[in-house]
Amino acid sequence: MIQLYIPLNFLGTLYREIKQSLADLSRMFVLMDQAREVADAPGAVPLQLQGQPELRFDDVQFAYDPARPILQGVSFTVPAGRTVAVVGASGAGKSTLARLLYRFYDVQAGRITIAGQDIRQVTQDSVRRAIGIVPQDTVLFNDTVAYNIAYGRPGATQAEVEAAARAARIHDFIQSTPQGYATKVGERGLKLSGGEKQRVAIARTLLKNPPILIFDEATSALDSHTERAIQQELSSAAQGKTTLVIAHRLSTVVDAHEILVMDAGRIVERGTHAALLAQGGRYAQMWALQQSAEHQ
Ligand code: ATP
Repeated sequence: MIQLYIPLNFLGTLYREIKQSLADLSRMFVLMDQAREVADAPGAVPLQLQGQPELRFDDVQFAYDPARPILQGVSFTVPAGRTVAVVGASGAGKSTLARLLYRFYDVQAGRITIAGQDIRQVTQDSVRRAIGIVPQDTVLFNDTVAYNIAYGRPGATQAEVEAAARAARIHDFIQSTPQGYATKVGERGLKLSGGEKQRVAIARTLLKNPPILIFDEATSALDSHTERAIQQELSSAAQGKTTLVIAHRLSTVVDAHEILVMDAGRIVERGTHAALLAQGGRYAQMWALQQSAEHQ
């Protein structure tokens, strides 16, 4: 029996290894595709920033596939140092706003500006250096946790990495693992929960310390304790930065300077939490639904 078990076990491991390599390869192709989507304009110059920048989407239209428009004339401004939140049904186009701002794709009409500069006219690299993204689902490298955090600022010292991890409330967890910051994480290392991965991403972003932040909130439910802790970390990271939050839980957006409600690629309502509740429209309905779900 044991003789049969060993080869079967080996085959199982081999299968997992191959599957993993394919997953890594497909991820690499996705990244390469995204990289190929846009190129620097001839003579593009680096983005010029002084203090906190203002972000502006000006009548933006975009489709991944020409036959299927996604964003249909989206305009909004995130004033310097403020937070604007985007809410709406799944598939409304919320994450697409983040992808366009990070310039994974270019708009087909309208324009996006950072501090008054059209992002198509400046170097892609300078745009990406100015933005920190905490994505829905963080992909960690198959490397140490220290490497994964320091990726936010190559050359960061161990003390700086630990300070960022403390601020993202992941330091104690890292210390509790047998190899601490040298622990390998990612798909071939220690598996982290969604909340832990998001904290690593927050630590990475804190270390990068960019003037613009994008938070794409995880759709998957975290336990309410973790969720509250992450929300606190996110709002303290956003203090004084120009921030776009793509929110799935309305409790996150209550304090936003402005909330945009999206539906099928358009902004259908906008205002502060109080103004939108008073309006009694889509947002008020979503709020009532989430409140009753939370109190069940
Ligand atoms: P969720 O709340 O579920 O994250 P969302 O509002 O962020 O949704 P997007 O991710 O912006 O929605 O997607 C908007 C639409 O664009 C969806 O219908 C989606 O299927 C489509 N879409 C997203 N990415 C691509 C892509 N790479 N190629 C083609 N279509 C895409």
